[in-house]
Amino acid sequence: MKQHIIDKIKQYNTIILHRHVRPDPDAYGSQGGLAEIIKATFPEKQVYTVGQEEPTLHFLRRLDQIEDSVYKEALVIVCDTANQARICDQRYKLGKELIKIDHHPNEDPYGDLIWVEEESAACSQMVYELYKTSEGQLKMSDAAARLLYAGIVSDTGRFLYSSTTKETMQYAGELMEYNFNRQELFNSMYEKDEHILKMEGYILQNFKMDRSGVAEIRLTKELLNQFNATQAETSQLVSILGSVKGIQAWVFFIEEDDQIRVRFRSKGPVINGLAMKYGGGGHSLAAGASVYSWEEATSVLEDLKLLIAKK
Ligand code: AMP
Repeated sequence: MKQHIIDKIKQYNTIILHRHVRPDPDAYGSQGGLAEIIKATFPEKQVYTVGQEEPTLHFLRRLDQIEDSVYKEALVIVCDTANQARICDQRYKLGKELIKIDHHPNEDPYGDLIWVEEESAACSQMVYELYKTSEGQLKMSDAAARLLYAGIVSDTGRFLYSSTTKETMQYAGELMEYNFNRQELFNSMYEKDEHILKMEGYILQNFKMDRSGVAEIRLTKELLNQFNATQAETSQLVSILGSVKGIQAWVFFIEEDDQIRVRFRSKGPVINGLAMKYGGGGHSLAAGASVYSWEEATSVLEDLKLLIAKK
């Protein structure tokens, strides 16, 4: 499959890369990293990265604005996105051929070519692997290495999650040999604004955990306003409950204008099935969904408690 993807990249003069909505560094890293690899290898090709920009990730990459007509003769590659509804910029359908590269469960096998490695710690790790196994057909650049490194570091929780393998460390080590400022990258990724740290304080003071180790926190619109935090910024907060002794699984409910976003995390029990029950999905230990009332949020919590009780 990797060679087929490389052949398609060679074949097309215009290549447009997409990724998922509400992007994280792995979405930016895999999309931008692959774009930079293609640019370094084939400087004559037109390569675009598209999607709605996330201001907190401007430091990683700025994206391109393109006309619909650019898609006409283009190869479209979608990175890090399990299902079509979550692809950012639905014009991905306008291309001539479509490739899916992803590390989430392959629930929606879209595309003419599909390369899914559910075991891979990051989509950026897969892109590095594509480069590595190309045996010289693809070239790495400093810009690509920086993006892929950021994606791997972020999606492994700085190499903490169980998805981290020997290969993950090896690839990250190889990427470190390229010329980019790691300290600056880490500062941009991990320095937090004061209001976010204060909100962390609120969460640590107010989360509720039952005896079985299921925890929840509800972040209402009112609360977000009070801390001057945006919905997007709450993604920086979800992992903090992971260090609570005895915690098994937890859920963040984040109120938006038209929905309540549900973010699940687990220390072991598989929780993406539950996310799917509520119309969402994700990885076995990190998943998400949306509900539309606080009553429904309570059902999600009850279901999570049942799931942990059955474990
Ligand atoms: P997040 O809490 O946004 O970091 O999401 C954790 C994981 O769940 C990510 O890998 C997302 O791809 C996935 N995910 C989150 N929300 C949804 C959703 N509504 N539908 C499908 N997958 C989701």
